[in-house]
Amino acid sequence: MASYLTDMDEIHRIIFEAPDSSDDSWQSSSEDSIRSSGSDSESENAQTTRGSEQEAQFSTSGTSRQRLPAQRQRQRSLPVQQDQQTEWRPINERYEVQYPEFAGPEHGPTFDFPVDSDPVIFFDKLFTNELWELLVIETNRYARQNNVNNWQDTTKEEIRCFIGFLFGISINKVAEINDIWSSDWVVACPAFACFFTKDRFWALWTNIHLADNETAPPKESPAFDKLYKVRPIMKILGKSFKENFNLGQNVSVDEAMVKGKGRNPVKQYMPAKPIKRGSKLWCIGCSCCAYLWDFQLYAGKEDNAPEGVLSTRVVCNLCHPLLDDKHHVIYMDNFFSSVALCKKLKGFGTYSVGTLRANRKDYPVALNNKALLKKLKRGDYHTVSGEEITITVWKDTKEVSFISNVHSSRGQDTVSRKKKDGSVSKIPAPPVVKDYNANMGAIDKNDQLKKSYAIDRKSKRWWIRIFLHLLDICRVNSFIMYQLSYVKWNSGPMEDEVAPILNQKEFSSSLVKSLCGTFTN
Ligand SMILES: [Zn+2]
Repeated sequence: MASYLTDMDEIHRIIFEAPDSSDDSWQSSSEDSIRSSGSDSESENAQTTRGSEQEAQFSTSGTSRQRLPAQRQRQRSLPVQQDQQTEWRPINERYEVQYPEFAGPEHGPTFDFPVDSDPVIFFDKLFTNELWELLVIETNRYARQNNVNNWQDTTKEEIRCFIGFLFGISINKVAEINDIWSSDWVVACPAFACFFTKDRFWALWTNIHLADNETAPPKESPAFDKLYKVRPIMKILGKSFKENFNLGQNVSVDEAMVKGKGRNPVKQYMPAKPIKRGSKLWCIGCSCCAYLWDFQLYAGKEDNAPEGVLSTRVVCNLCHPLLDDKHHVIYMDNFFSSVALCKKLKGFGTYSVGTLRANRKDYPVALNNKALLKKLKRGDYHTVSGEEITITVWKDTKEVSFISNVHSSRGQDTVSRKKKDGSVSKIPAPPVVKDYNANMGAIDKNDQLKKSYAIDRKSKRWWIRIFLHLLDICRVNSFIMYQLSYVKWNSGPMEDEVAPILNQKEFSSSLVKSLCGTFTN
């Protein structure tokens, strides 16, 4: 785990000091407008079926991925320094891309949890003791700094109960927190009321803190950090999420929005997202199980990084532990993808698949031929390949382009599309479309899991929303670790019977019971 950190400087040097590191890989500038007009059609929840005999532009050619001979794997040089113009072959020429065997560690938790471990064991692996202690120290410090009347120092037991309480009232869908202590038995929740008095709950809520305000660098300082208030928790969780989990072969880089209108110094507007205003998190997750492996909070455009540099930086920062010749495949959307980034990642033995904007630098001219595109019927596609990359333009309701260095130029699958009357039709599609749909959704899936019992509490303090969001991700990630461990427990020698598997609600409920324990105020 330690080695990649020391390599980061080198990775940055190669990526950002290479001759093409300016934004000339990107020919557009408005991030949000481009994102919003992005890839709706390809991001539909498409289900695909391999093996359709239906013809598109090509006939079926079997598997799209082939293993690279061992000798060629060794010969591949690290890293790519130059971004020369790609030599594209003629349109629709057969081209076999070779993908070597995945060489990463075994997918799943890095720790063997004992059979029938309680949910809190998984949660505590991610939400570490360091974090609990930080919450206690900074909450007490903040209350003293503000001379809070009758403040009694909090303890780790109380803070654990407080977090458990927040999870609990979210599972129980308590709408008004004050109702918990109501004298009206119809709306009161005595089961929760026994943990805190109303005053103590609100005292904790208003004083909860993660950083010392008095040591925050001032705005004029070069060390000023917009994210100072959440920096400590981001650091600790970023480390524990990664240390406790090995990603599978396929991963996706995507963004997630965290609610938070009001006075939020990192507020973003994303018209295409269900949450349009809030904080933006860049995330990397595991495609097969939706474990969220790392994240970065976007602080805004204050460093004036052009979009091309920004998106390359995000991918490289999030993926740098994977840039180690293990042949991970990174799925990304057209905000991130470019021919140059695909080549750069390949220089580190890391592969990539993404949707691609037709106005990106080095996009094959042949695929921009309007007369040719006009003839495409829904399900048809054209490809152009070269230098171990295949670019495909496929017609759904409109044309969508894909870039991949793990897919060959030919192959046939189908994707499902829902019609207005609710029926489902199958549309012919090349394998890259099917694989993209299957592997791109990790962050959305993690978000969906989170939503069912999310701590959705408003606060005037912008960073509280981030804090609650990260708490929920901890809960969901520990649930995913539990599910994968459960499969392992059942695949070993069956000496003892394993308890029935818990669903997310049961898992979260058990977590609440453990966190709240026997604490009473
Ligand atoms: Zn996974």
